[in-house]
Amino acid sequence: MKIGIDAGGTLIKVAYLEGGSRKFEKWPSVEIDRLIEKLKREHAADQIFLTGGKAEYMAEKLENTAGTSIEFDATYRGLKILMEEQGIALDHFVYLNVGTGTSFHHASPEGQERVGGSGVGGGTLIGLAKLLVDMDDYEEIIRLAEKGNRDEIDLKVHHIYAGRPTPIPGDLTASNFGNVLSGDTSDMGPEDKLQAVIGLVGETVTAVGISLAEGFETNDMVFIGSTLLDNSVMKDIINRYAGLKGAKAHIIHNGEYSGALGAIL
Ligand code: ATP
Ligand code: MG
Repeated sequence: MKIGIDAGGTLIKVAYLEGGSRKFEKWPSVEIDRLIEKLKREHAADQIFLTGGKAEYMAEKLENTAGTSIEFDATYRGLKILMEEQGIALDHFVYLNVGTGTSFHHASPEGQERVGGSGVGGGTLIGLAKLLVDMDDYEEIIRLAEKGNRDEIDLKVHHIYAGRPTPIPGDLTASNFGNVLSGDTSDMGPEDKLQAVIGLVGETVTAVGISLAEGFETNDMVFIGSTLLDNSVMKDIINRYAGLKGAKAHIIHNGEYSGALGAIL
C-alpha cells in the first residue's frame, strides 16, 4: 500500500492507495502523535509519502518514509488528477487553497507558481466564530450559519448609494460587518454572525482570486481546501461573487486531499 499524507496546520489529510482503490481520511493536527503511532503499528510495511507544514516532524518520528514533497508541488500534482477525474479540463487558471490560511496560485501548461497568500482562511472562520459566538466545532458552525442572514451586518454598495445609480453592482459588499452600527441588531442571532464571518472569509479570498484571474487573463478560478467542506454558505458566496465579476468558480470535490494524493505521485 502507498500512503500519502498532507500534514497541515489544522488537519492532516491521508490518502491510502492500494491497487485500484483509494481511501481518504482526516485527522486533527493536534492528534499527530496518535496518527504516527497508528502508522508505526499498522503500516510499517507500507510506503509513506509526506507533504505539508508538519511533514518534517512526521518524517523525523516515522523511520523509513518513502519521501517528502514540497507542499505546493504535491498539491498541484494531486489537483490535476482530481480535476481530470471530475472532467474539469483547464490548462490555464488560478487556484486558491483555502486551508488554515489561504494560498493563491497560477497554473499554466508550464506548471504552477505561488502568487500570493492571505492570513484570511479557515482558521479565521473558526477563530472569529469562537470569539463572536463561543463556538469552535466546524460542523456545528457551518450548519448554524446556513440558517443565518447577514443583511443587517454587512454594508452593501446600495446602502451607501441609497437609491442612486451605483457604478458597480449594488449587491456587492462594500464593507463586511460595516453595517453593524447602522443595522437593526436587536434580533441578531449567532447564526447571522456566523454567516457574516463566512461571508468575510469567502468574499475576501474570492475577491483576491478574481483580481488574480484578471491579471493572468483567465476566467477560471479553482478552489480547494477543507474550509469548503460541506460549507454551502461559503460555496454559494464564492459562486455568486465570481458570477457578479464574470469569472467562473470550480470547487473541486475532495480538493482538500490534493496534497495527500500528490505526495504519492
Ligand atoms: P494549511 O494548509 O494552511 O497548513 P490545513 O492544510 O490544515 O492548513 P485545510 O485542512 O485545508 O488546512 O483547512 C482547514 C480548515 O478547514 C479549518 O480551519 C476549518 O475552517 C475547516 N475544517 C473543515 N473540517 C474541519 C474539521 N473537521 N475540523 C476542523 N476544521 C475543519
Ligand atoms: Mg493545507
